[in-house]
Amino acid sequence: MAKIFCVANQKGGVGKTTTSVNLSAGLAKLEQRVLLVDLDPQGNATMGAGINKATLENSIYQVLLGEADVAAAKVRSEAGRFDVLPANRELAGAEVEMVSLENRERRLKDALAAVDKDYDFILVDCPPALSLLTLNGLCAAHGVIIPMQCEYYALEGLSDLVNTIKKVHANLNTDLRIIGLLRVMFDPRMTLSQQVSSQLEQHFGDKVFKTIIPRNVRLAEAPSYGIPGVVFDPSSKGAQAYIAFGAEMVERIKTM
Ligand code: ADP
Ligand code: MG
Repeated sequence: MAKIFCVANQKGGVGKTTTSVNLSAGLAKLEQRVLLVDLDPQGNATMGAGINKATLENSIYQVLLGEADVAAAKVRSEAGRFDVLPANRELAGAEVEMVSLENRERRLKDALAAVDKDYDFILVDCPPALSLLTLNGLCAAHGVIIPMQCEYYALEGLSDLVNTIKKVHANLNTDLRIIGLLRVMFDPRMTLSQQVSSQLEQHFGDKVFKTIIPRNVRLAEAPSYGIPGVVFDPSSKGAQAYIAFGAEMVERIKTM
């Protein structure tokens, strides 16, 4: 039975997709069977995994609308050695079209149930909004990974996300919990980064992952080659950090 995790934060540009793609590749290096679900109509995770979003026959859009199952829509990331349930712009329409469907917030959960036993990890890259798409991710998941930058405004908006997670836990998915806050794009030379980082540790204790992801240009370059950073330059600091984070997650699920 796969453990399912959403990578969520309603802010854009905080490292959700970079984390989803590189944690997937890092876990694959650790011999874990991984499905990466792209729940963002921008399709950045799909492209970052090396899949051409323009030529998809099926995507997560058809899956959410019940027109295809996951087995028919998934694509292999040869570069990353994991499976991808890909997305493209079509997905933006699903937000509206799902509203009238029954079980509209559980469409992803129901679809993933069919492939649950084929994977150790299913990672869901969420869009930058607390939308019906994100709600589908939260309803399907055992937990949430929240990437955040250690900057002054990092905590702003976090309470909205935490409240949403609490509401989903109370009303829709009692399995759901915050697995942890992941410090990303970290610059140890900045005093502010250090300060915010230790504030996070004080407030959130063991809800802050031990692994810290540094700012590393190789992680930013990799998507343009359609190769996860972890594979693109395995010896880079960014790649090493995501592999370490994979190992931390493998340990973490043992106690879940
Ligand atoms: P989101 O999915 O939350 O919008 P992304 O993962 O797309 O965020 O990241 C936003 C931008 O920051 C991208 O250009 C990405 O390449 C870059 N980026 C993310 N993480 C890092 C990192 N650790 N080091 C350097 N650049 C990063
Ligand atoms: Mg993204």
